[in-house]
Amino acid sequence: MTVTYIGLGSNLGDSRQILAEAVTKLASLGQVQASKLYQSPPMGPQDQPHYFNAVARLETDLQPLDLLDRLQAFEQEAGRVRLRHWGERTLDLDLLIYGNEKIINDRLTVPHVGVLERDFVLLPLLDLDANIIIHGQTVKDLEIVKQSTLTVIDNTNWANI
Ligand code: ATP
Ligand code: CA
Ligand code: CA
Repeated sequence: MTVTYIGLGSNLGDSRQILAEAVTKLASLGQVQASKLYQSPPMGPQDQPHYFNAVARLETDLQPLDLLDRLQAFEQEAGRVRLRHWGERTLDLDLLIYGNEKIINDRLTVPHVGVLERDFVLLPLLDLDANIIIHGQTVKDLEIVKQSTLTVIDNTNWANI
């Protein structure tokens, strides 16, 4: 059993519902806990809606590439269409952390490349593990975390798990 963290994002459709359904689907892969639900301004193209973001903690027996396959299948089931780089999407599921493993191959970089630069990933991670360390960095002490103005949309039970 490996402890993994999955980043969830959506800015098309009923994002709140889409993220809640995604958490339910993740629960089919193992024990799941969800962070608070956040709203954040878009990265990249600015002419797109704000994002809803959260992180799920998943304990699973799946190997990393098998887990990525499942995450990508869930994105497809939510109707994800690739429009443009960092563009709008119904559902984005990023494998942020897989145990203590460092993985670099054609399909997967873990920890996820952007993780230490994105407050919409770091704050929800801290909801789930207040003392989490990534790449040797104590996340709660990072400047980006201390200065974040990320908006909390819902504190509890938004994912109905
Ligand atoms: P970003 O990765 O910067 O957040 P994005 O989420 O918009 O951007 P996608 O279009 O969703 O990027 O994914 C592009 C590719 O990234 C996927 O096909 C996948 O193979 C690869 N990838 C590499 N590492 C990861 C990871 N840790 N989690 C999910 N996908 C990953
Ligand atoms: Ca992403
Ligand atoms: Ca992605």
